[in-house]
Amino acid sequence: MRRDFALSALTLSVVTPMYNEREAVDHFVARLRPVLDGLGVSYEVVAVDDGSRDETVARVLELRKDWPQLRLVKLRRNVGHQSALAAGLRSARGDYVVSIDADLQDPPEVIGEMLAKARDEDLDVVYGVRNDRTTDTAFKRSTAGAYYWLMRKLVGPWVSGQAGDFRLMSRPVVDTLNDLPEQQPVYRLVVPSLGFPSGEVGYVRAERVAGETKYPLTKMIKLSVDSVTGFSAAPLKVATWLGLITFMVCLGLIVSGIGAWAFGVTVPGWTSLYIAVLLLGAVQLICLGLLGEYVGRIYAATQRRPRFLIAFDTDQEEPVINRNGSETVPTELVTHG
Ligand code: UDP
Ligand code: MG
Repeated sequence: MRRDFALSALTLSVVTPMYNEREAVDHFVARLRPVLDGLGVSYEVVAVDDGSRDETVARVLELRKDWPQLRLVKLRRNVGHQSALAAGLRSARGDYVVSIDADLQDPPEVIGEMLAKARDEDLDVVYGVRNDRTTDTAFKRSTAGAYYWLMRKLVGPWVSGQAGDFRLMSRPVVDTLNDLPEQQPVYRLVVPSLGFPSGEVGYVRAERVAGETKYPLTKMIKLSVDSVTGFSAAPLKVATWLGLITFMVCLGLIVSGIGAWAFGVTVPGWTSLYIAVLLLGAVQLICLGLLGEYVGRIYAATQRRPRFLIAFDTDQEEPVINRNGSETVPTELVTHG
């Protein structure tokens, strides 16, 4: 269900997912506010609290007293960066929506450049492209390099090799994303695949201002699995190829077995048999696992569970519309974490 009211009242929404960002949030607000105030457009900042366990919520509510444009959308539990982003995109009301991390790795100053570019060149998407990642660890850079290389192969060349989730999108793009039935979309791949007119703005990836990364290896792996299965059935073809290869190997073994029998050379042991059985078993398990990944996703899609639930939204005039279309009118605001 889409909100129909006052959509054009705001020019810009800045969406920021926050998970345990208590240490970064003050720095973030201090740097973001002058940038947005200086743009001379109406704006809101949608801080999405992704079920933080620290005092992020309390701090944002505190900072909001001084900065009414800062809005807090608190999710009921931690749902992960991409789903928190989904909640933010759904809540945002601006004609343009910028998504940015809370840790100041993406410089807020670039937002003005993005907005100007989108307006001047009539673009629907402006990507923030990192042209320098030297502040990231070698591990992060090499895994990110491998990830983007693979995604360009699987999804298509329109995926930028250096664009993360720092981007500006126009209202039509955001509405399209909000209407997608997909359960686990990876926005940095879905947005380019939509094909809206787009441009790029370069920036230097800074170091995290405070706190630690909220993207441990497990979450990086999850993002990669979502990315691959969301865009490609190639892993299923791996199963076919493995099957074909083992079939050829078995044919060879049969021929050599018959040859050995004809020449009266007894096959000495059961080792080869044993290995063949094990190999086939392993290949079958791999194939089953690959199938399972997709079946699991189909199952999740048929359940149609909400990807996130909003606990409250500081924007009290309007009802909160949940993913399933039900409405919750926020009763009272919690003023502590
Ligand atoms: N984040 C989130 N939920 C999570 C993990 C991360 O909302 O489960 C947010 C986090 O607060 C930050 C952004 O996503 O604003 C990117 O996370 P982070 O900076 O830790 O990732 P990295 O830059 O290390 O890849
Ligand atoms: Mg970061």
